[in-house]
Amino acid sequence: MRTPIVAGNWKMNKTVEEARELVSEMLPLVKDIQDVKTVLCPPAPALLPIAAMLEGTDVGLGAQNMHWESSGAYTGELAPAMVSEFGQYVILGHSERRAYFGETDETVNKKILAAQANGLIPIVCVGETLEENEADQTSAVVSKQIKAGLANVSADLVIAYEPIWAIGTGLAATGEMANDTIKIIRAVLAELFDEATAQKIRILYGGSVKGSNAAEFFGQPDIDGALVGGAALKAEGFAAIVVAAQDEVSK
Ligand code: PEP
Repeated sequence: MRTPIVAGNWKMNKTVEEARELVSEMLPLVKDIQDVKTVLCPPAPALLPIAAMLEGTDVGLGAQNMHWESSGAYTGELAPAMVSEFGQYVILGHSERRAYFGETDETVNKKILAAQANGLIPIVCVGETLEENEADQTSAVVSKQIKAGLANVSADLVIAYEPIWAIGTGLAATGEMANDTIKIIRAVLAELFDEATAQKIRILYGGSVKGSNAAEFFGQPDIDGALVGGAALKAEGFAAIVVAAQDEVSK
């Protein structure tokens, strides 16, 4: 059985002081949840102080991006070892990085390789635009992103299927729609690795997940948790999603 993951992507929100406040409200609500892996991905300056707050808990910590090079003249970038000093995860290939910062499947691939070489678990985001969805290209788009992004990488990773039209819009996919695409992703993973390995890889859904709709996703057989943006910025809202994942496991 795949242990579900609920990961919060805070994006460019929360100063260190605000991050500390959020985590101190959130921790009591999620720290005793046994069967769901909770992961927090704050902005880079909060990684160190939040790592200290999470010590002794099972809550994981991740960055939202990193460079593939290990050091050097890359102004503004984070090296893999700078992330693995404090965290265990890194979100890679988020659609906002692809849209605003020129990330491609090729750069995502280099980043996954670098993350894995540094002992980090990448949370690799894939997903289609609204136009691609309406043109029935979802399957082709995500298959290409997976095949190109995951070339030569190991299976120690997590995938997040995030239809771009559902991110931050309040327009979540239905559980069934998301599950259908995630099944396609799992089939591509089986081609890249093998069926048994594909069955072990966690594939999350992301896109306007909140406490009130989380159960619809977690009830689907191929959805192994959620990558959460907006709802991760409030302790109770995020905890409600983690609890919904736990409730599904406990059924
Ligand atoms: C995201 O940015 O990964 C995301 C899923 O955002 P939201 O939950 O706000 O749609």
